[in-house]
Amino acid sequence: MAFSFSPDPDFESTLAWIRSFVDETIIPLDLLCEGLNQKQLDALWAPLKAEVKKKGLWAPHLGPEHGGQGMGQVQLALIHEILGRHSLAPEIFGCQGPDSGNAELLAVGANETQRERWLYPLMRGDLRSTFSMTEPFTASSDPTEMTTRATRDPSGDGWILNGHKWFASNASVSDFTLLFAVTDPEAPPHQRASMFVVERGTPGMTVVRDVGSMAHPHFSEPGRLYDRIGGHSEVVYENCRIPGENLIGQPGEGFLLSQKRLGGGRIHHAMRCIGQAQRAFEMLLERAASRKTKGRPLGHQQMVQDMIAESHAELEAARLLVLKAAWTMDERGAHGSNSRAEISMIKFAVPRITLGIIDRAIQIHGALGYTTDMPLEEMYRTSRALRIADGADEVHKQTLAKQLLKDVKPVSPWPSEHVPTRRAEAWKRFGKQIEAVRALG
Ligand SMILES: Cc1cc2nc3c(=O)[nH]c(=O)nc-3n(C[C@H](O)[C@H](O)[C@H](O)COP(=O)(O)OP(=O)(O)OC[C@H]3O[C@@H](n4cnc5c(N)ncnc54)[C@H](O)[C@@H]3O)c2cc1C
Repeated sequence: MAFSFSPDPDFESTLAWIRSFVDETIIPLDLLCEGLNQKQLDALWAPLKAEVKKKGLWAPHLGPEHGGQGMGQVQLALIHEILGRHSLAPEIFGCQGPDSGNAELLAVGANETQRERWLYPLMRGDLRSTFSMTEPFTASSDPTEMTTRATRDPSGDGWILNGHKWFASNASVSDFTLLFAVTDPEAPPHQRASMFVVERGTPGMTVVRDVGSMAHPHFSEPGRLYDRIGGHSEVVYENCRIPGENLIGQPGEGFLLSQKRLGGGRIHHAMRCIGQAQRAFEMLLERAASRKTKGRPLGHQQMVQDMIAESHAELEAARLLVLKAAWTMDERGAHGSNSRAEISMIKFAVPRITLGIIDRAIQIHGALGYTTDMPLEEMYRTSRALRIADGADEVHKQTLAKQLLKDVKPVSPWPSEHVPTRRAEAWKRFGKQIEAVRALG
């Protein structure tokens, strides 16, 4: 039985290099990026990306046949734990959402011509992409309810798009969008929609605004764009015509394809959450050891020790849960129900633990924790999204519960652990032995 908690030494040194690159280069550089637009940022980041490519660590999430490293999910998870220390780090390593998930979708769904046009440039970091499913006027937890329509263009082999999307992350700066649109409203619910590529600047596609959010509260006016990655765009399609070759896969495969992009991505998201929680925990420990009250460090107060111990135990538990999900995916694959329970479990459990740890770190820092002088307030605001993005907690809990109930046989009239019933059954099996030992006096 192979069960090891220590990465091999070569990989350990890779992780150490990534950690020092994130902590010593990416985090300090980002402190100076306020106000720069995407073009300026791309110029600033280019040498860092080149360094990552030189190390052979660029876009590690796909197989070598698609330009990636072919790492298993466990190794990827350990890398993402470190990249999670700062929101910019995945971009510098070419494995940022939504591009990484979109690349996975294109890798399984696109034909070779489409791959040449969108996948390989995306993998190289020459293009940026958006994934667009969510709609403002539809409960988007249920993709079978989507209303954005794609109809055949009567004048050719193309499609005409009409609809209203939002939270299309990065749409204001991306080169193309993977759009989920209904092609046959009469089909069974999971075969109604298809997946399309809509290129930037296609007439009829309008980015209305980047919606103000907890991450960027000041971007709410119509027409105001964040102008760099990280915006969540509202996008309207009005008679937007796209060519037939922009359909990915077959008509009706939109739901199937959208599922393919999220398995590994959810593990990476969860592990980046652990990275955030770890960074917050390090701040918590440092403050507890440094700040004094009543003549001794905060960390000598029992209630602070409680926060430290609870945070550490939760962090370790969450980390093991994610690594177990990654291992399960490596062993059994992500498709069907193979890893569904594990992935749903980490999707709702880890962000909640992360938020709790960041909250305690803020508490230990007192007023300083509430200020923008520390990264904690931003970490708290941005991490909150993970209880909603990629599926709300409740939806993943529902998935997990369904999986757990799937093979459970109903019993009647009493539960199988009903003591009087079990005692009567036991008496039938062991009654004679009991009588025999009783007779011994
Ligand atoms: C930061 C961020 C980035 C995002 N990026 C993208 C993106 O790039 N592309 C994209 O398409 N979308 C994106 N989203 C949108 C996200 O996927 C949706 O918000 C999510 O799927 C929920 O849909 P909704 O907002 O319409 O909520 P609704 O479906 O309206 O649900 C609202 C609430 O109802 C409850 N609920 C819903 N269903 C159930 C149920 N079955 N049982 C019990 N309770 C339930 C939950 O509490 C849920 O939070 C992003 C969201 C955020 C916050």
